[in-house]
Order: sequence, then C-alpha cells, then structure tokens
Amino acid sequence: MIIGLPKEIKNNENRVALTPSGVSELKKYGHTIYVQASAGLGSGFKDTEYEAAGATILPAIEAVYAQAEMIVKVKEPIAPEYSMIKEDQLLFTYFHFASSEELTQAMIARKAICLAYETVEKNDRSLPLLIPMSEVAGRMAPQEGAKYLEKPMQGRGILLGGVPGVKPANVLILGGGVVGTQAAKIAAGLGAHVTIMDINLTRLRELDDIMPANVDTQMSNTYNIREAIKTADLIIGAVLIPGAKAPHLITRDMLKEMRPGTVMVDVAVDQGGCIETCKPTTHEDPIFVIDEVVHYCVANMPGAVPYTSTLALTNATLPYVIQVANKGWKGACLFNEELKRGLNVVKGEVVYKGVADAWNLKV
Ligand code: NAD
Repeated sequence: MIIGLPKEIKNNENRVALTPSGVSELKKYGHTIYVQASAGLGSGFKDTEYEAAGATILPAIEAVYAQAEMIVKVKEPIAPEYSMIKEDQLLFTYFHFASSEELTQAMIARKAICLAYETVEKNDRSLPLLIPMSEVAGRMAPQEGAKYLEKPMQGRGILLGGVPGVKPANVLILGGGVVGTQAAKIAAGLGAHVTIMDINLTRLRELDDIMPANVDTQMSNTYNIREAIKTADLIIGAVLIPGAKAPHLITRDMLKEMRPGTVMVDVAVDQGGCIETCKPTTHEDPIFVIDEVVHYCVANMPGAVPYTSTLALTNATLPYVIQVANKGWKGACLFNEELKRGLNVVKGEVVYKGVADAWNLKV
C-alpha cells in the first residue's frame, strides 16, 4: 500500500503519526511510505532518519495527499486539508467527529474512509488508542501540579515530597482509571501523601493492592470530597463517564473551603471537566486563579511532550496501521472487530452511531 505521512498543521501540534522505526517496520511488508519534509521534527525525528528507514521525502503536503492510498495522522484534518482528500482515500487518525459537525460534513463530502483512533475498541470495551494519551496526561498531572504549587507560580509554596521533619503535600485524585492511576504513581513516587477516590469499589480494591503505602483509597461522594479538599494541596480531576460529560464533583462554592494556593489540575477538561470552575486553557496560557485557587485545565496535555507522546501513540497505533496496510481497510475490518469499530465515515456515509446521533444523521 502507498502510505502518506503529512506534517500536522494544527496549531502547536508537534506529534507525528509514524516514527522512523514505524517506517522501517512497514517497509518489511513491502509498503511505500511518503513523508512530508520536516513532519517528524517537532518530535525530534529528522527527514534523514525517515529516509534511512526507507521513506521518500516529499516537500509539499499536497504531494503526500495526492500519492497516498492511506494517510496516517495524529489530529483530524483541518479546513486547508479538506480539498486534498481524495474519494476512497483512507484516513487513520483521531477525528472526534462528535465535537465538529463541520469536520463530519467535510469528510462525508470528500467520500473518504475515516478510521478513527478514538473509537477503535477492544472486546473488553477498552480504547487502546486513547490509553497512551491518558497515560501521558496522568503522569504529567503531578509534574504540572508541583510546578504551580511553587509560590512564584501562585501556588501554596509546598514541596510535594516535603523534607525530613516537614510533612509532604496532600494530593487528592478524583477517578482511579488510567489517568488517575498514573498520576498516583508519580505523585507517590515524589513522596506526596495521595488519596484516590473512585465510585467503583472493585477498582479501589485493585488500587489498594498495587499502590505503595503513601496512597490511600476512598469512595468518591460529595461528603468525602468536601472533607478532603480542605487539606488537599493538589487536586487532580481524572474522572470519565463514557459517552457523557464529566460530572462536576467540585462545585464553585467549594473553592472557599480550600486553602489559598491550592492547585487543581483538571485532566478531564476535554470532557467538560469535573471541576465546575474549569474552562479549557492552552500550553501558552495554562492557568487562571479563582478564589485564590490555581486552575490548570490544558485540554491537550500530551502536546507539551511530543517526543514521549509520539512514541507512546505510535507504539499503540503501529500494529493497526500494519494490519490495514497489509489487508486493506475492508480486509482488516473483517478480520479485526476492534478496527471495524473505528470506522466512522465510509464513502459519504456515517457508519458510527455516536457520530450519527450527534448530528441527527442516519447510520
Ligand atoms: P478511565 O475510564 O480509565 O477512568 C475514569 C475513572 O473515573 C473510572 O475509574 C471511573 O470509575 C471513575 N469515575 C467515574 N465517575 C466518578 C466519580 N463520580 N468520582 C470518582 N471517580 C469517578 O478514563 P481515563 O483514561 O483515566 O481518562 C480520564 C479523563 O482524562 C477523561 O475525561 C479523558 O478524556 C481525559 N484526558 C484528558 C487529557 C488532556 O490532555 N487533558 C489527556 C488524556 C485523557
């Protein structure tokens, strides 16, 4: 198959959908890979490395789209790319169609085949191409929290791990899924006293078994949250209710019960946030302060660490990219139900119920 790797043109997107090692794997199966010049630079991969792995470098994005049967990307195509997409061209990337009617209509009009990373789903309902980004955001959350707890950053001026003779910081994590677990590991590793709250008792039992002694688990409910925020230094929002907006576990009125300089990192901000006062921020301007409480609500946290994020993402995507390249999208989707669930738009028709429901379209 002829595979195209364009450079991401969305603002501040430095990730890339294939690494040179991914190119070399695809070459083993005899595929042809066209890489747009400087596509990997933001993640630290030079054109010469892609060439050495067997790719051909093309200077312009138009040429990559024109040549390729399958385009592999990270983010959804944006308006300048729409007209480059050919009928029957396969696009394998994050789309998040339910959040953009314009994108949905554009892909319907282009009659492309849109295989969305975010809806590739295993039989146990886990989302293998979303997990790596949750792992990255989870591990980043205590790191960002620690930074904004510093006094010059408007935080309480407390060191997460404390020092001998001085107690460590209290970290409260709401949600013990992928983000919450990774956040707890890092915060605990830095020496903080960590509490993870979840509504799933089975999950709390698992966490209690695997976490170190400085991590406690507690049932998530309004009463327990209200008590815990009074002494929390860092609060990490990591809840997810699949297919729904995140519930507001911390409401506006609770802020006044917190200590000045408390930091809240709402990782769930991309699903509306689990903290009522959170609104999405960017890496350029990541925080704002309400009632002396610092809010960090960056919606694409992994974008700040493109090297790690690219490797984490491509570790997960490459096996699927290889299947699709070897069998074609029809063959790969027949062979693998997980991939089939990734099909969102096929030749002008929406085939994913969640997307159809979002825009009142027929499946
Ligand atoms: P997950 O499904 O693995 O975990 C979510 C957990 O929340 C589950 O254990 C669930 O039981 C728990 N939960 C649900 N309701 C709760 C409640 N009322 N109180 C406490 N816990 C509750 O999800 P995840 O992969 O960890 O993702 C968490 C959030 O982070 C999602 O909203 C995801 O979109 C977001 N995310 C954001 C970024 C970013 O850059 N901001 C990056 C990756 C993921």
